[in-house]
Amino acid sequence: MAKPFASSADLGEKRQLLEVLADGVYALTAEGDPNVGAIEGEDFVVCFEALATPVAARRWLERLRAHTDKPVRYLVLSHYHAVRVLGASAFGADVIVTHEKTRELIAERGEQDWASEYARMPRLFQDPASIPGLTWPTATFSDRFTIDLGGDRGDLVLQHCGRGHTEGDLVAWLPRQGILFAGDLVESQAALYTGDAFHREWSSSTLDRVASFGARTLVGGRGAVARGKEGVEAAIGQTRDFLAVMLREVGAAGSLKEAFERTHRTLEPRYGHWPIFEHCLPFNVSRLWDELHGVERPRIWTAERDREVWDELQS
Ligand SMILES: [Zn+2]
Repeated sequence: MAKPFASSADLGEKRQLLEVLADGVYALTAEGDPNVGAIEGEDFVVCFEALATPVAARRWLERLRAHTDKPVRYLVLSHYHAVRVLGASAFGADVIVTHEKTRELIAERGEQDWASEYARMPRLFQDPASIPGLTWPTATFSDRFTIDLGGDRGDLVLQHCGRGHTEGDLVAWLPRQGILFAGDLVESQAALYTGDAFHREWSSSTLDRVASFGARTLVGGRGAVARGKEGVEAAIGQTRDFLAVMLREVGAAGSLKEAFERTHRTLEPRYGHWPIFEHCLPFNVSRLWDELHGVERPRIWTAERDREVWDELQS
């Protein structure tokens, strides 16, 4: 029987878990659905990631409001993907911060990415009519952006670590608490999506920089919160291993179809049971095949191209 396209048949609601990681630091994880977070400043809140629609975002904000009623001054978006950004209007943030490449990517391919992600994973788009349009950042940076949290709360440091999951990922680092919000640069017991990635850079210098923070708690893009030095190293190590296997197997293949079969066969025993593994793999292999054959920037995914790649490799 043919596998249903991407996550189009995945309709089961995930359980959301709100955790207080330190005084005024929150993470909402959801069994492999996109994670979000929030950090309290002295008289404002910084929210990290926006979910796929304003209706989904408002559900998260209602839970956050049980802990703090401070206004959202900053909304930080780790990268341009639709399921992370299209809920932005719900936050009423004064400032929406991204890396400068993320702004360019939204302008270049935001519309296509929206259509692609909606078809791949409709369950995440609760009330899609509530999305007012693309999300436009109002502040961008190239290397580092620091938010003074006020009082004795220290800084929140937004850092670009190099190209990785996309061309413009950022991580959010709380030096005082040793907590890192890594976006999709690190997944914790969830499959990687690499369809817009720069695999060689991500698996080497970018993850080296992520590891160099020495975080004691890490919130990845999907999956459970990683705790303790060992837990953080395990999450980064899993991400690196997933990429290394893909690079080896796709690099050794003589055709795209063979690349997919080799990669699937090698990754499946370790990662096949993790969320979105089957969903991601055809798109991942397609992008890495391009990367290893001289296509510098990821080609734009459209709803049509998604189906073509899926039918060629996965069905
Ligand atoms: Zn992403």
